[in-house]
Amino acid sequence: MADQIFDVAIIGAGPAGLSAALTARVRNKNVALFEHMDFSPKLQKAHAINNYPGLPATPGKDLMKQFVDHALAAGPTLIKEKVTNVFAGDTFTLLTPNNTYEAKTVVLAIGVSNSAMLNGEKDLVGKGVCYCATCDGMLYRDKPVAVIAYTEEGEHDADFLGEICPVVYFIPQYKTEYQPKHPTIQVLKARPQAVLGTDEVTGLTTDAGELKVDGIFILRQSDPAETLLPELAMDGPFVKVNRDQATNVPGVYAAGDCTGKPWQIARAIGEGLTAVLNAIGYIDSKK
Ligand SMILES: Cc1cc2nc3c(=O)[nH]c(=O)nc-3n(C[C@H](O)[C@H](O)[C@H](O)COP(=O)(O)OP(=O)(O)OC[C@H]3O[C@@H](n4cnc5c(N)ncnc54)[C@H](O)[C@@H]3O)c2cc1C
Repeated sequence: MADQIFDVAIIGAGPAGLSAALTARVRNKNVALFEHMDFSPKLQKAHAINNYPGLPATPGKDLMKQFVDHALAAGPTLIKEKVTNVFAGDTFTLLTPNNTYEAKTVVLAIGVSNSAMLNGEKDLVGKGVCYCATCDGMLYRDKPVAVIAYTEEGEHDADFLGEICPVVYFIPQYKTEYQPKHPTIQVLKARPQAVLGTDEVTGLTTDAGELKVDGIFILRQSDPAETLLPELAMDGPFVKVNRDQATNVPGVYAAGDCTGKPWQIARAIGEGLTAVLNAIGYIDSKK
């Protein structure tokens, strides 16, 4: 895929990302739209949306279907993979667990993380704290690890890690009937509290006790944005943007819940449009 350079890479296909993708296609740009789950599982859970103009009392699932059908009909390249890293250079390189992509600009539309970062997590990213078992699992071969899962994606990661690690503590933060595939996997009912270690991870504290582990894999619907692109300026847990939805990294824009409150569809849609129009302006300014 790296032989093709997309004009715009949009990470996340909730309302913000779909709005950005639609407008970019209307402007005839070549768009990569990344979505690792099922198009805003969060909004699909909403019983009825009553404040999106023109579509009263619409179930979240139906509204998302209309957004998805409209945006995909415009012809972005939908890539059902999780972006794990973005590297800035002449163009942007985006990594997913199995592939590499290139784009001239990036729009972050990843939504908001449904859980705060754990104490100690930020300082130990890449030193034992990981967000993708396919990418980093082999580094922890033959070592004890924990998987903290906020989504079912964590079950696949636990099954994979169970093949290569002597102990995998699987700690789901949602209701699940998960049946581990390997005897090395122990399912724990616990709330994670803090990542332990100074230069590297040595353990995890939970409300059910302390676990000695070398690696902690954390699977959220949306990872904290700064773990994708470490040089990104943040405003607390949100991506810092100006009125053009531009971040501090030239060529990188952000839209929707990831930029702050209010967490609302209409705001996400408007920000997605603003972000991508300015991303297109950025490409034009470089010609
Ligand atoms: C129960 C509930 C009810 C709600 N009711 C209303 C309401 O009535 N009115 C209203 O206006 N708003 C409502 N909201 C809020 C609304 O859902 C959000 O404001 C809106 O979905 C934000 O859109 P977004 O595109 O910014 O983020 P999201 O909808 O969270 O979409 C982000 C997408 O990015 C994907 N993603 C994240 N990281 C990556 C990655 N690294 N690689 C690839 N894909 C990635 C995720 O899978 C997700 O699909 C409600 C929310 C909930 C939970």
